[in-house]
Amino acid sequence: MSLPTRLPVDTLFDLFTHRLASPWWEQVKAYAPWMLLVFVLERLLRARQPDAAAVWFNLRFIGIGIAISLLQVAAGWQLAQPVVTPLAAWFAPWRAAVQQVPAWLQMLLQVAVLDFFYYWTHRAQHRFAPLWRIHELHHSDPSFNVTTTLRVHWLEDLMKLATVLIPASLLVQAPAGVPLVLGWIGAAWLFFIHANARISFGPLNRVLVSPAVHRVHHSVQPEHHDKNFAAYFSFWDVLFGTYAAPSAGQWPAVGTAGTPPATVWAAQWRPFRRAQAGERWPD
Ligand SMILES: [Zn+2]
Ligand SMILES: [Zn+2]
Repeated sequence: MSLPTRLPVDTLFDLFTHRLASPWWEQVKAYAPWMLLVFVLERLLRARQPDAAAVWFNLRFIGIGIAISLLQVAAGWQLAQPVVTPLAAWFAPWRAAVQQVPAWLQMLLQVAVLDFFYYWTHRAQHRFAPLWRIHELHHSDPSFNVTTTLRVHWLEDLMKLATVLIPASLLVQAPAGVPLVLGWIGAAWLFFIHANARISFGPLNRVLVSPAVHRVHHSVQPEHHDKNFAAYFSFWDVLFGTYAAPSAGQWPAVGTAGTPPATVWAAQWRPFRRAQAGERWPD
């Protein structure tokens, strides 16, 4: 797969989709240490007994999922070029203005802007039935652990290219040399927030997403439905009225009322079949 070496909208896009330009084993090498680190955290601070069958399902799903999603996103990126290139030029003065602020602030802005677009995309996924059918696979995991992170349908990646990565990378640009580091931290954070571990940030839960905060998003308890959409900064949830604080010392059960897919192939087709009765549906 050949991709342009210099993307018109670089940095954010580059870094969050760095995997596009690398062979799959490079990605495994990049992500595996983070997954292992979170796995160790889970062993030390286990919140709930993990469901071994669900973990095994996720591990098998991840291999196929990554392969399909890479092809999809790479194709989507090429298709988006005629729109993205002129837009990138149009937003260039805005990105140049952002680059006047200190580098650490630019990095924070990058993640905050990305998370803003992610928040609204994610909220829409819980609001509109066709989008929920795609996203439901992530929530159908009866367990909540580091392997849940990549239990995401490939159509989600394609959608986020258009609704998260491209808009965010039009607005902010990372300082030179920073993108790669930030990219790995960004990816590691997603593994971290899915940790099946007793980790909560206390009052800081309202600012930063902790594993306790994201567990609430996956919780089966009705008062937790459609809450905590952000992936990095919970202040977006606080600001837009969807924040639910995790109760101290409580690690709710997770999943949906529907039956999880039986095979990894069934998982690929899941969004296209009719909704099952009793499946949790967006309110
Ligand atoms: Zn969700
Ligand atoms: Zn999740």
